[in-house]
Amino acid sequence: MQALHSVAQMQAWSRQARADGHTIGLVPTMGYLHPGHASLMARLRPQVDRLVVSIYVNPLQFAPHEDFDTYPRDEQRDLAICREQGVDAVFFPPPAGDPAGLYPPGFETRIQVPALDRGLCATSRPHFFTGVATVVYRLLRVVGCDRAVFGEKDYQQLAIIRRMVRDLDLGVEIDGAPLVREPDGLAMSSRNVYLSPADRERAVSLSRALGLMQAAVASGSLEVQPLLELGRGALDVDEIDYLEVVDKDSLEPLERIRGEARVAVAAVLGKTRLIDNRALVPGALGDAA
Ligand code: AMP
Repeated sequence: MQALHSVAQMQAWSRQARADGHTIGLVPTMGYLHPGHASLMARLRPQVDRLVVSIYVNPLQFAPHEDFDTYPRDEQRDLAICREQGVDAVFFPPPAGDPAGLYPPGFETRIQVPALDRGLCATSRPHFFTGVATVVYRLLRVVGCDRAVFGEKDYQQLAIIRRMVRDLDLGVEIDGAPLVREPDGLAMSSRNVYLSPADRERAVSLSRALGLMQAAVASGSLEVQPLLELGRGALDVDEIDYLEVVDKDSLEPLERIRGEARVAVAAVLGKTRLIDNRALVPGALGDAA
């Protein structure tokens, strides 16, 4: 497994892989890897000849008051997880402003998908998805991959990336992977490490609330307002950023469920903001997420 530390090194590696006739897959991450990330690697590994993981805490997607400087890092553990998953190359782009990085001095371009960059996380994080779309565009082009996989954990992000790749004709297959949870149901996240032991216990209320909502939908409760009240009542958090039931593709808020919908939540415990989502499927058990 190779570690690559500049855009030029990454491009040269990919050029060689292509010249050897290999297909390339990419798993973009911000590091501090956990089994959710590992599941993306395991999913993509058999689909491509060469598997690349990128590890980059992207400054464009953080607001000044957010945790860019304190985002958890553990490069040695990350490398061990990548090795275990049979990764061929790990790409560590240098920081913004470095001429060898994704954003060399003078980089000004931004990518936006306005139709999906509103509501849900976009309301409290107005620059977040522009930062995500821009870095993912850069990564897909630099790596020159055939496929990339993203987790449904970040459902709005996945929708935005799919649309960007379609609109810009990037010729990369985007695969969405199921959300991986802790045994008690908490969605795995690098940020869970921030939770105090008491907040860690309360954090399970996010997945419980979504589970209760799905159970209600499965037994025929299809009006969204009462479902939201049910969910809100089950959340044991300091602040609800949002709890919304949306169309699974357009992400538009729904008043009544007809066919499969998506419920998404963001909530704050202590200083930590957590997100979760799951399918809402009338008259069915729904997916495991
Ligand atoms: P991050 O490092 O948080 O930017 O996440 C990198 C990729 O891993 C994104 O595509 C996420 O959606 C995905 N991911 C993060 N947590 C999970 C999880 N619990 N289950 C599945 N995918 C995840």
